[in-house]
Amino acid sequence: MSCNQPSTQSNQESPETDISVIVPALNEQGNVSRLYERLTEALSKLNVKYEVIFVDDGSTDNTSSELDDIAKQYSNVKVIHLVRNFGQTAAFSAGIDHAKGQILVTLDADLQNDPKDIASLLNKLQSGFDVVSGWRKQRNDPFWTRVLPSWCANKIISFISGISLHDYGCSLKAYRRDTLAGVKLYGEMHRFIPIYAAWMGARIAEVPVTHHKRSMGSSKYGLSRSVKVILDLLTIKFLFDYGTKPSYVFGTLGLTAIALSFVSLAWALVLKYAFQTSLIKTPLPLLAVLLFTVGVQLVLMGLLAEVMVRTYHEAQGKRIYVIKDTRNI
Ligand code: UDP
Ligand code: MG
Repeated sequence: MSCNQPSTQSNQESPETDISVIVPALNEQGNVSRLYERLTEALSKLNVKYEVIFVDDGSTDNTSSELDDIAKQYSNVKVIHLVRNFGQTAAFSAGIDHAKGQILVTLDADLQNDPKDIASLLNKLQSGFDVVSGWRKQRNDPFWTRVLPSWCANKIISFISGISLHDYGCSLKAYRRDTLAGVKLYGEMHRFIPIYAAWMGARIAEVPVTHHKRSMGSSKYGLSRSVKVILDLLTIKFLFDYGTKPSYVFGTLGLTAIALSFVSLAWALVLKYAFQTSLIKTPLPLLAVLLFTVGVQLVLMGLLAEVMVRTYHEAQGKRIYVIKDTRNI
């Protein structure tokens, strides 16, 4: 598929738009108009039809009016004002929902990502990938609070997901529209779209991109984000691996706990009858009761989760499989 001639068009999508650029912005006055200029400069060289969707994520400075002014002047600029601050992931999600392009490009509003890199992302996409993620090889952020925690988070994410990207947190990414179909984003999950896509069979790649120091405004995040990111990863890993069979996880843990409770009880009885140790002199009976109770609760939680999963899939008509393609159907 080329950028100029998209290969697939669904009914709702306008045939005129090749690329939708999605930009979340929270209190980025001054940055958004400069970003728009740089985007125009970069994209006009590519000979593609594009739109830019700014999502104003509840800004309280002049970002909103600055964006409205840009939209007044340029018809390919769309602005979505959210009623309050919902977070970057929700802002991306709103942009994706309103995008008409065959290829979706996301980037930050604070000029840390460079629109010039969009060309190399698109080239990579055209060489046969579905998702191309930017890699901030020379990251210009504070070392102790951002670069180091994010290096650790990236390693953990790669380990748990089995996908090897260097930089999940880089907002500059390009996706073929189809890969985003059915993706629902929660929490800090926008960074996991490549993982999700790869799990669903998409071909993913990364290209090194420039990363500038933030010159205006301030970062909206601190250290706590890394913790949220890891928790989000556990959620998607759980949902992907066990989303249709949660009782396997709860049940295995529960049955193990019950088995350990019997071992503990047996040991206590051996101590009592073979070594004359009174039951009240060892914590083993207590441990047996605790493990048994926890085990039964876990098994029951697994059964409840099974009921919830069935309700979830059946109420929304969801399938437990995804078809790639069919013939004569
Ligand atoms: N952002 C947003 N909503 C938020 C937090 C951030 O839309 O609740 C936007 C922000 O305006 C910027 C991008 O997300 O365009 C990345 O935020 P930031 O630069 O603060 O993150 P960092 O680069 O420090 O990781
Ligand atoms: Mg930034």
